[in-house]
Amino acid sequence: MNKNDNKKPHSQDGGGNKGSKKADGGGKLFSSLLFAFLIFVLLGGLYSYMADKSTPQTPVSLSELSTDITKGTVLSILVSGETLEIHYASSTEIKTTKKEEGTALTQTLVNYGVPAEKLAKVKIDVEDQKGFWYWAGNLAPFIFPLIFLAVFVWMLSRQVRGAGAQAFSFGQSRARVTSPEDSKQKVTFKDVAGAKEAKEELSEIVDFLKNPKKFLDIGARIPKGILMMGPTGCGKTMLARAVAGESNVAFYAISGSEFVEMFVGVGASRVRDLFLMAKKAAPSIIFVDEIDAVGRVRGVGLGGGNDEREQTLNQILVEMDGFEPNEKVIVMAATNRPDVLDPALLRPGRFDRRVTIDLPDRNDREAILKVHSTKKPFAEDVDLRVIAERTPGFSGADLYSLMNEAAILAAREGRNKVAQYDLIRAIEKVMLGPERKSHLLSGKEKEITAYHEAGHALVSSVLPYADPVHKISVISRGRAAGYTLHLPLEDRKLQSKNEFLDDIAVSLGGYVTEKAIFGDVTTGPTNDLQVATALARDMVTKYGMSDKLGARAFESAGGRTLYGKGLEEAEHSERINSEIDSEVTRIMDEAFAKADKAITDYRGALDAIAKRLIEVETIERPEFESIIVAHGIQPKKKLEI
Ligand code: ADP
Repeated sequence: MNKNDNKKPHSQDGGGNKGSKKADGGGKLFSSLLFAFLIFVLLGGLYSYMADKSTPQTPVSLSELSTDITKGTVLSILVSGETLEIHYASSTEIKTTKKEEGTALTQTLVNYGVPAEKLAKVKIDVEDQKGFWYWAGNLAPFIFPLIFLAVFVWMLSRQVRGAGAQAFSFGQSRARVTSPEDSKQKVTFKDVAGAKEAKEELSEIVDFLKNPKKFLDIGARIPKGILMMGPTGCGKTMLARAVAGESNVAFYAISGSEFVEMFVGVGASRVRDLFLMAKKAAPSIIFVDEIDAVGRVRGVGLGGGNDEREQTLNQILVEMDGFEPNEKVIVMAATNRPDVLDPALLRPGRFDRRVTIDLPDRNDREAILKVHSTKKPFAEDVDLRVIAERTPGFSGADLYSLMNEAAILAAREGRNKVAQYDLIRAIEKVMLGPERKSHLLSGKEKEITAYHEAGHALVSSVLPYADPVHKISVISRGRAAGYTLHLPLEDRKLQSKNEFLDDIAVSLGGYVTEKAIFGDVTTGPTNDLQVATALARDMVTKYGMSDKLGARAFESAGGRTLYGKGLEEAEHSERINSEIDSEVTRIMDEAFAKADKAITDYRGALDAIAKRLIEVETIERPEFESIIVAHGIQPKKKLEI
């Protein structure tokens, strides 16, 4: 079954998150270079504009100037350093020239033969050489490149500083914090449907966080750690948030895997930082999701690489031990593998409170569906009770995504209300993945798939302890070419040996049918065989369901694994090993015979189901039952174990 992971509620970033932005080094450098270049061009333009203003419009020689003065056409001369700006009486044109260095202008002009009376008529102004523009004009050629360089260096250094800050923030925790004032993100017990016992257990913590004095006065020890155990998606994070929401305290959420980095010591430093932040904001809750990522049993790692995890775990323990008696910080941790946790974590004074959250039962499923149906307009035919009945084994997260998928299906088909039909299709989508209608089977493949699925369905209907069939289809979904949906009549906490034996026979139904009808087998039943064999092995080695080997468990409950394989010392002899194998073979053979008998006895029903499947591709429960009844098989009623 697909476990669709849902997005956890978003929350704002905590203080420790400042440095977590990853700089896109290359892109940033390029853009700052471009920026510097643009500034350079701008400054260059400005300079040349200013310089342009002082460039001579029409240069003339000194002798021409002397002639013009003698002719009496020159009105005035502006002396600016060595440059002369000549204004004429007859025109607005300005001419410029340079005077001889070190000699007075009048002296030069007299030397050129300008009569003194003519010269006296020309107004000669000497510009003050200490003005701003004078200096600006002189210094600009040096200053502009300097400014350009300075800007460039400043930009580079800013980037380097950014990278440095990132390196320093490495050891900061990346916890997401939800403050009690944030009403949008606030979750309360009302939002969490079902989970009655867990809520009761946790309301004590809420009580404590709201009113610590009451507890401290009577000398009660404050709980430090609460371990929430349960399968993924059943609402552990949500409940932890609800505790924070109910008691109005800050909530710091982090995942166990976020502590673990490539460098030894980073995890421990992040733990320190996280606890520091939480203590400052006390009263507060620290929530560590997937604590098993850091909290596995220590000292069993192989091939090194475990130091970091161990240091992180040690740091968590040290921090928890170091709480002052009246410090109002509570650590909540979630795991779906409590069996692999280090015993040190579970000691009194650490995670000594344990809250188990199970998959929701039928009533809880209905309640969860209701919670997630607000804001979704429903058609009249919607009956959430039926949907809850059809979804045993679904977690809260699965139900949430079921509701969402149904709404998407309705919207895609242009309807503005979600109908029961959408919800039913959404169940299959969440369970088996989307339909792959484009994955067309060839004629022969379709026939094989139809018989294969008909085989599963028939064996399931004939054997007394198997689950009833809800739907058969030869439309591909996910990786399967076709599928048979059989669901238990009611939620089951326990499974009996007879049920297991019938389940194995049902799994083999497809294989047996292919062999009997076509005299050949395809790769179709690969997964069926794996499931059936694993179940048979578990019956013998875990559940003590083999008469020959008796009531003994030959496998301890996991934990010490390497690449998925059990590492524990063999807990039994080689002789037992071969006996296990022969028992597994016997169970499989008997299941094979049982399935074979079912399809031989009811060959007519098998043909009829397969034929109908080839025609219509999908058969629902009522039609299926009418076919089997016509061939003398009673449909399933409620069964007592
Ligand atoms: P876990 O931490 O156990 O993996 P989460 O708390 O993250 O699961 O749950 C995932 C989502 O599933 C939640 O955001 C919520 O939408 C939905 N959900 C799970 N359990 C419940 C519940 N009891 N009531 C309402 N919604 C639930």
